[in-house]
Formats: sequence, structure tokens, C-alpha cells
Amino acid sequence: MRCEDLAERITDLLEGDVSPEEEEAAIEHLAGCSRCEVVLAETRDVISLTADHGAIRLTSVDRARMLGAIQAQATTSTGEAQTSE
Ligand SMILES: [Zn+2]
Repeated sequence: MRCEDLAERITDLLEGDVSPEEEEAAIEHLAGCSRCEVVLAETRDVISLTADHGAIRLTSVDRARMLGAIQAQATTSTGEAQTSE
């Protein structure tokens, strides 16, 4: 599993909506990739914070920011530098 694959499946992983094989591959990747570990932790925080209010209701801004952060992490790890500002 690559960083991009993990980023794509990250919400499914957190919601338990993946096959045991996918979960195992993700855990294996996370064990050796601190960047994705950080992204996973941050995403989990966002989800648990919003879940406290009874439902996951990300605004489009929150969603864009989160996806941007995940993609930035994935891009960095593949060595394709990208300037966002
Ligand atoms: Zn990774």
C-alpha cells in the first residue's frame, strides 16, 4: 500500500469500512510511515470532534483543508514537491 492509497481509504479505515486485508495493509504501512500516522491521527481527531455533535458534518472548507493536508502529505512522500501558495 502506498501513501496515496492510504489517503484515499483513510475515512473508510477510521469508520471500519474496509476488508480485513485492506486494514492489515494499512496497519503495515502505518507502522513504517510516520507521515501517514500523523495524517491518520489528525483525521481521527476531526471525525471524533464532529461526531461529538451527533453527526459528521464537515463544511466544504473543512473537507477541502483536510483533503489538502492529506494530499500534501502523500505528495511529499512520493518526492513530487508542490508549492501550494
Ligand atoms: Zn505513508
